[in-house]
Amino acid sequence: MFGREFTRPNPHSPDHETEQQTVADTKAPAAPATNPQDTIFDVAIIGGGPAGYTAAIRAGEYGLKTALIEMEQKLGGTCLHWGCIPTKSILHNAELWDEIKHAKDMGIEGLGTPTLNWPAVLQRKNDVITKHVKGLDYLMRKNKITVVPGYGKLTGSAKNGVHSVSVTTADNKTSEVRAKNIFLATGSDARTLPGVEIGGNILSNIEILNIDGVPKSLVVIGSGAVGVEFASIFKSFGSEVTILEYLPRIVPAEDEDVSKELARNFKKRGINIETGAKVEKVEKTKSGVKVTYTSSAGKEVVIEADKCLVAVGRAPRTGAIGLDKTKVKLDRGFIQTDEYMLTAEPGIYAIGDIVAGLPQLAHSGAMCGMVAAARVAGKYARPVRRDRVPGCTYCDPQIGSVGLTEAAAREKGYQLKVGKFPFSANSKASILGQHEGFVKVVADAKYGEILGVHIIGPQATELISEAVTALTLEATIEEMMFTIHAHPTLSESLLDGFSMTEGMAINI
Ligand SMILES: Cc1cc2nc3c(=O)[nH]c(=O)nc-3n(C[C@H](O)[C@H](O)[C@H](O)COP(=O)(O)OP(=O)(O)OC[C@H]3O[C@@H](n4cnc5c(N)ncnc54)[C@H](O)[C@@H]3O)c2cc1C
Repeated sequence: MFGREFTRPNPHSPDHETEQQTVADTKAPAAPATNPQDTIFDVAIIGGGPAGYTAAIRAGEYGLKTALIEMEQKLGGTCLHWGCIPTKSILHNAELWDEIKHAKDMGIEGLGTPTLNWPAVLQRKNDVITKHVKGLDYLMRKNKITVVPGYGKLTGSAKNGVHSVSVTTADNKTSEVRAKNIFLATGSDARTLPGVEIGGNILSNIEILNIDGVPKSLVVIGSGAVGVEFASIFKSFGSEVTILEYLPRIVPAEDEDVSKELARNFKKRGINIETGAKVEKVEKTKSGVKVTYTSSAGKEVVIEADKCLVAVGRAPRTGAIGLDKTKVKLDRGFIQTDEYMLTAEPGIYAIGDIVAGLPQLAHSGAMCGMVAAARVAGKYARPVRRDRVPGCTYCDPQIGSVGLTEAAAREKGYQLKVGKFPFSANSKASILGQHEGFVKVVADAKYGEILGVHIIGPQATELISEAVTALTLEATIEEMMFTIHAHPTLSESLLDGFSMTEGMAINI
């Protein structure tokens, strides 16, 4: 009868509501009766984003008495409200819009002239968020997690092995949550440039998700994942888009070949790219914004646009959570941990965007949470390795990468075999009409160890999971070359990519 309760529903899965209803129909898990004041929890987690809520769920699954402290009214953090989920919802609209524009090429005619209902696009995005907020609330009840509303702050080191967190609610009432272990999961905030204030037509990732229409023109400052995703979305919807990047190439954390391919594609799509551009000023005008920058040639350039998105990275929220009273060590505001997320203060773990040396990605934070929970429960856990975290950028074309770039591997002194296989030679890519991009494999020449995989092209963010598995299990090129890939699939391009390191792809 309760078989389904043992499979953990994914709050981001479209089947979740059905699954939720099925369980609810049989026996709804009751809200925990725990009174936080009277309880010493095994774990108290500060922050209910993907790092915090995943840790809470896993801790609950291990049977740990768990409290989750969240200052906002809704669980989900940046990812659910202002990041991964809303952006991908709007991105899906953009992809559909692009598909419809090219329907004729696919033999579909008679669609007339499609028009974009922007408020409906935003409403759908909000509906997706609401559905998953409800999903998280359900998961908290199911796993008997005590959700404590309010702002959490450490009061100091543990006393007799028990830590205490003061929690202040929005109406200024303070209480105390006590726990044997604390997970810090307070996340990050958008950075801005010196002298540039977010407001009006100068937007961060928060404001841009609720603008009242598609801007005629948009300047995007910064070309990391957030910058290029919004650039790609609004280009699809018809905005005139300019990207200003301070470094010499866009998506600078990616392999150089990937940056070149994305720049080539973006230029083909009509996105203006200025690299080596130092933004000096962003000013509000009557109708929009005026951005002044020094170009790579040293010239002062002024551009005007309807809106400007500032996407220059994210700062950890570690300033006001009581760390000064602990031994927790910081590195430029980020918290230093070991590979199992333990800080220098016994019993205090840090997970998610606040951790030094890990990418600020939801899946990275979620895994940090699962590892920390396993450690507290005394269960098996693998260390979190930076070079095993996939980077995913959901622009068009998509990017998925894991492990070392070619340049980083050479810098580390490896002798390399590098293979590159273009999607233009993959049959499924032809069927989809999406031929841009490639799979690049970086392998150690001596033992064939796979050191990095870099994909740009259709469904790259899905395809990368195979490479993550291969790296996690320390697969060699030889093993991957004899791993059967279904036909016709995009994943065959990985088989060919691995084979290309030996110069032996089948399809090229
Ligand atoms: C536009 C955008 C798109 C993104 N897209 C993706 C993507 O597609 N894939 C991906 O993997 N990542 C993506 N990210 C990154 C992802 O959103 C973050 O890596 C992720 O949300 C970090 O999770 P977290 O739990 O560490 O922090 P957060 O999600 O920031 O959550 C922290 C939570 O802690 C709460 N909090 C903070 N301080 C306190 C306190 N003192 N007391 C109580 N509560 C507190 C906050 O209210 C918040 O709910 C995107 C980010 C942005 C901005």
